[in-house]
Amino acid sequence: MENRLWKNLEKLKDAVRGKKILLFGPPGSGKGNRSRDLEALGLVHVSSGIALRATVKDDPESELSKNARSYMERGELVPDEIIVPIIMNHLNQEKCQKNGFVLDGFPRTKAQAEALFSKIKIDLALYLDVPRKFLIFGIIEGNRRVCVECATGYSDFDLPHIEGICDKCGGKLVRRADDQVETIENRLKLYDEQTKPFLPYIKTQTTLEILPITVSDKEKINEERLKTLKNHVYWVETDEGGKARMLNLEGMRERLYNLLAERFQ
Ligand code: ADP
Repeated sequence: MENRLWKNLEKLKDAVRGKKILLFGPPGSGKGNRSRDLEALGLVHVSSGIALRATVKDDPESELSKNARSYMERGELVPDEIIVPIIMNHLNQEKCQKNGFVLDGFPRTKAQAEALFSKIKIDLALYLDVPRKFLIFGIIEGNRRVCVECATGYSDFDLPHIEGICDKCGGKLVRRADDQVETIENRLKLYDEQTKPFLPYIKTQTTLEILPITVSDKEKINEERLKTLKNHVYWVETDEGGKARMLNLEGMRERLYNLLAERFQ
């Protein structure tokens, strides 16, 4: 992982232009930040969470908004009839077709997946593999905060340069109202029950690659690419009960770009 497989950013941009990429992973697995990295390569970011929040904000009094809001506030999935047309409209826009896109937070049910794959050919699905123990811990203890403008996520593990202000766009950083222990537990439970089970189906429809956030003990890696908290490298318990070190934002970007270079360059 130390070796950079991509030569330069322009070449990588050329290689991924027009590609349709799906991000798949539980809440808190870094879909937002990986989306930022893919956006930096020219892909259009389509996020179901952002699209829903924008729909609700633009027309708060509509029946659709009230209905969607009631599910979102409880951390439950918004019904397929609401979310499918919102996302498909986005994806059919010319800019998505021309530049390619990164789809984040959709599909989350088998029905959504079928609606998507029946209409659009996806070039690559990335499964963001983050140890279970870290998901809630990272959001709560890591004090997750997101940019109100561009939705970039920060935490005590990935601090912004200036507290409260987004490095990327200067927007204000806030805690999300649904980042509470119970709501996250509910979102994780829904992920296990409704989303994770159709991973095998995704494999039948496109290429699926795993993008792990941890570095195994044997893997040599630049220390500055590891997460630190209070100046200590951060260790996490893996799902198998072992321990592993965590990559930081830059390390994950490098790993993602290497994977794209291997696949598309
Ligand atoms: P997270 O990934 O942390 O759950 P999102 O911003 O992706 O957060 O989504 C926020 C909320 O929007 C979800 O809790 C859910 O209510 C709703 N939502 C987002 N995407 C979908 C989807 N594909 N299907 C149904 N509901 C969704």
